[in-house]
Amino acid sequence: MTAQSSPPAPPGPGWCHWHKGPSGTAVLVDIIEQGSGPGRQLYACNPCREQRGLRPYGEKS
Ligand SMILES: [Zn+2]
Repeated sequence: MTAQSSPPAPPGPGWCHWHKGPSGTAVLVDIIEQGSGPGRQLYACNPCREQRGLRPYGEKS
């Protein structure tokens, strides 16, 4: 187990929906609108965003 220095507060909940695992670099990339209730928020980590060309949600190209 490696001692982790406190990361600079990741904006996401620490979960990547693409590789379906915890990540310290996950950020919100999409919100799926649902018929009822709040949209489903999708987070992706750095490697997954690079692989799939994802951009943080709300970021204009
Ligand atoms: Zn990922």
